[in-house]
This record gives sequence, structure tokens and C-alpha cells, in this order.
Amino acid sequence: MLVGVVVAGEKRAAGIARVLIGEDAIQIRVRELARELDLIYADEPPLLIGVLNGAVAFMTDLMRAMTVPLEIDFMAVSSYGASTKTSGVVRILKDLNAEIGDRRLLIVEDIVDSGLTLQYLLELLRQRGPRDIRVVALLKKEKPGAAEVQVDAVGFPIPDEFVVGYGLDYAGLYRNLPYVAILDPSAILPE
Ligand code: 5GP
Repeated sequence: MLVGVVVAGEKRAAGIARVLIGEDAIQIRVRELARELDLIYADEPPLLIGVLNGAVAFMTDLMRAMTVPLEIDFMAVSSYGASTKTSGVVRILKDLNAEIGDRRLLIVEDIVDSGLTLQYLLELLRQRGPRDIRVVALLKKEKPGAAEVQVDAVGFPIPDEFVVGYGLDYAGLYRNLPYVAILDPSAILPE
């Protein structure tokens, strides 16, 4: 059973080694990003495309911090499953409901790691003839050898470590944490 521990006044979920980005810092940065995006989309409502499941926390906070009229839709792509390493294989599990021809798209991603997922999504969506596509990612790993992929705005660059929380999971857990954290190695299942 997962139980919490209190460290230095902060309640931390079991299995968490350390908090990398706290709740307050995330909320401040999300509001900054929303202000930048409001300016970009002042003239025409964007369609925000949240990439499930990981982007759900970021998407819901970001869209509520934005003040321009906007629409939302979601795509689901395959994730790591119960692994902490990318397979490089991207599979569409749920496609968009909306028609995107001539629309202004804002892809909302949780994290860009190898960049392969985003590269695949961008190619797929570009073929459908949108007016333009921008990408906002909450986290981007600083990783040598990662794919050169379009990311227009990043919440936080992070070191090349496996993180959980604020939408990001490990084996389905930890998505509900309000902060981004590094997993304790003891919580990682043998592969
Ligand atoms: P990429 O294709 O850029 O390697 O990885 C993209 C997807 O892998 C992300 O949208 C996310 O779902 C998952 N991912 C990448 N790095 C991490 C990480 O550090 N933690 C978690 N929980 N998921 C990650």
C-alpha cells in the first residue's frame, strides 16, 4: 500500500525520492505561459490538443489560465507502460474528434524526452492542413542526441532523469501529485 511521509513540512507520496519542481513554481510558470499564448492567439481562437494521459494536469491548468476564446481536443498515444525507458514506437490510441483543416493548433505536451512522440504527432497533424501548429511542453529533458523537434515554449528544462507527478506516471501511478518529482529507485519494478 502507498502511504505518504512528511519531509520538512511537505507531504510527499511514498516512492518519491525528491521534489524537482514544486507546486507553486509550476502554477507561476503555467500562468506566465498562458499570458504569452494569449498574445499569440489574440486574433483567432486556437484548438488546444492535449496529449493524453500525461498532459492532462498541464492542459487543464493552462487552458484555465488562458483568457482568449479557445477550444480543446485530445489525442492519446502509447506511453512507456510499466517501463522507465522510451520504446521509440508511437501508437495512436485515440485520434482527434475535431477537424483541424485551417485551424490554429496548440499541442500541449507533458514532457519532451527523445522527441520521437512529438515528431510523429507533428508529421501526422501537418498532413491534415492546419493553418499553423505550435507546441508547448511543460518539461523538456536536456538530452544529448534527442531528435531536433519543434517546441515553441517550454515550462522547465530538466535533467535527463525519469520524473513523475503533475500528470506523469510510473506504471499508472503518481499522476495526481501536484508537483514533479524524481522516483526513489526502490519504487522501480525490475523489468
Ligand atoms: P519521447 O517520445 O519524447 O521520448 O517521450 C514522450 C512521452 O514519454 C511523454 O509524453 C511521456 O508520456 C513519456 N515520458 C518521457 N519522459 C518521461 C519521464 O521522465 N517520466 C514519465 N513519467 N514519462 C515520460
